[in-house]
Amino acid sequence: MADQAGRQIDTVMQESRLFPPRPSFSDKARIKSLAEYEALWNEAATDPAKFWGDMAREELHWFEPFTKSLNWNEPFAEWFVGGKTNASYNCLDAHLEAGQGDRVALLWEGEPGDTRRLTYTELHREVCKFANCLKTLGIGEGDVVSIYMPMVPELAIAMLACARIGAVHSVIFAGFSAEAIADRNNDAQAKVQITADGAWRRGNILPLKETVDAALVKSPSVKHCIVLDRVNEAIEMKVGRDYWWHELMDAASDDCPAAPLDSEAPLYILYTSGSTGKPKGIKHTTAGYNLFAKKTFQWVFDHRAEDIFWCTADCGWVTGHSYVVYGPLSAGATCLMYEGAPNFPAEDRFWELVEKYRVSVFYTAPTAIRAFIKWGDEHVEKHDLSSLRLLGTVGEGINPEAWMWYHNKIGGERCPIVDTWWQTETGGIMMSPLPGAIPTKPGSCTKPLPGIIPEIVDESGKPVGKNQGGWLTISHPWPGMLRGIWGDNERYQEVYWSKVPGKYLAGDNARCDEDGYYWIMGRIDDVLNVSGHRLSTIEIESALVSHPNVAEAAAVGRPDDLKGEAVAVFVTLKNVEPTEELRNALKQHVRKEIGALAQPDDIRFTNALPKTRSGKIMRRLLKDIAAGKETVGDTTTLEDYTVLANLREEE
Ligand code: ATP
Ligand code: MG
Repeated sequence: MADQAGRQIDTVMQESRLFPPRPSFSDKARIKSLAEYEALWNEAATDPAKFWGDMAREELHWFEPFTKSLNWNEPFAEWFVGGKTNASYNCLDAHLEAGQGDRVALLWEGEPGDTRRLTYTELHREVCKFANCLKTLGIGEGDVVSIYMPMVPELAIAMLACARIGAVHSVIFAGFSAEAIADRNNDAQAKVQITADGAWRRGNILPLKETVDAALVKSPSVKHCIVLDRVNEAIEMKVGRDYWWHELMDAASDDCPAAPLDSEAPLYILYTSGSTGKPKGIKHTTAGYNLFAKKTFQWVFDHRAEDIFWCTADCGWVTGHSYVVYGPLSAGATCLMYEGAPNFPAEDRFWELVEKYRVSVFYTAPTAIRAFIKWGDEHVEKHDLSSLRLLGTVGEGINPEAWMWYHNKIGGERCPIVDTWWQTETGGIMMSPLPGAIPTKPGSCTKPLPGIIPEIVDESGKPVGKNQGGWLTISHPWPGMLRGIWGDNERYQEVYWSKVPGKYLAGDNARCDEDGYYWIMGRIDDVLNVSGHRLSTIEIESALVSHPNVAEAAAVGRPDDLKGEAVAVFVTLKNVEPTEELRNALKQHVRKEIGALAQPDDIRFTNALPKTRSGKIMRRLLKDIAAGKETVGDTTTLEDYTVLANLREEE
């Protein structure tokens, strides 16, 4: 036991609620039963390369067929070798050719309430024109284009225009500083910057162009800048460097055939959220990524022609890449895209949009769900959400109580919830319920998708038993996997392929229960080591969140002479003031829910937790605070620096 204690992660969570899909949902679903899912998964696992190869022939357009499904020279994969395709073609031209050009591709709403609607034919035309604009600035195959824009249709147009001509986009979330943009531009050696004069954010204007001007002073590789007029701000335009989007577009032809690109031509670079350290420039390539985004979209969101799909993620994150742009558009879906914040002008903005657009499939993040809970049910109850048929989450683990709220209040107890586990690196969803087939358990991402073979191992690489926590790895390459870290093969090898031979190391801990359900237990780096027991962050946090007064919680280890580490938790409250009594009550609550071992030693009440700009709790910063240390790690991805300053002051 002592020997094992250092290697495995103990589970203390009890969660036995089970929600089978309703027959009325399953009957119409793409995958209708557990047996059907299992048959498909087994078929794929027998010969993944053949499984994906057959699918690629069917699902993508090929200018030239590929000759081999997979070349695997660990850790370097090449999928659909020798083939030529184009992601922009698969997202646009393919539908026009199938006579579907009049279908709506994008429904868009701006923060101030302005709207747009683009059919596939219209989107195709805009993309062709903008691709020609890029060409006139000398951009071609392999050139990197940096995009720093609000969530407007032009952002998707810019991405697809790059894809059309083989340029590589690098989208940077439009909340990052000039410093962060310059870092990414230099790392990627971007040649062109695309931005807007400004962006709406909660009624204010974020001066995007001003930030870009400061970034470009430090980005010598960037020669040109294209500026979209979004907010009518007076900005400076540098002659010879800066061009207005609309002026270039006015002069551009709408004829731009999609370039036949090698399957492995780089499609984009995207920097990770930076939850655990300095962001990594993840490289994705054309055919494999495109196939994986399309197929996972169809499977997990059970896509039907009449759906109105809304993924609330910004295109600055991988979720926006795969499930606002490449996945849904390759599948011919109708997507809602929204520019603003969930609480502007009021806390019911999302529900107002669901009602207005009759959204049927809604995909968001746990951080948003926890905020909705905190804001109160009255904002939800004002609206008719009966159009919804399926809900999803991504980004962090969802605490079971938050899951139940989502199920009851948003889903009206009728919508399945797909808790999707994946990463920037994986390109698309890896584990998730298939909503017509797999009964859900609150807090579990359930089972791997067909073609995905997870294995949980201990630190020596040996598989662990049922319900034992360990490192989550993936055993066989899959088409959407990253092809490297931009310009740094060594770091790629080091981070993902060196600790467990022959397997992709995801960097998360997980356990698999007696029903073959996977439970993500948090980041490898975040495990708490208490009296020889290794505890998972999420289990302690979920126990806290199940208390009626707790809105959010983060658990970290603090060095302790006796126990190795003590359990320190940071808690935000809803509707109550912090008191000593409540602190004790919370300790008792955790003790009762998951046991004495996990009982917090320190509880700190705070107004907000430090998060990345994509809304993930940054436990590494809290760990430093709990230990009374200065933060030494990368803080460029921190959303709000005052949160950190306040936490320090409260010490
Ligand atoms: P960095 O790698 O720079 O530290 P990051 O890991 O936050 O940043 P992303 O690729 O945006 O960057 O996030 C992927 C991570 O998010 C996963 O490794 C996992 O820790 C977490 N995650 C995503 N979806 C889920 C989920 N459904 N359940 C639990 N955790 C999730
Ligand atoms: Mg990561």
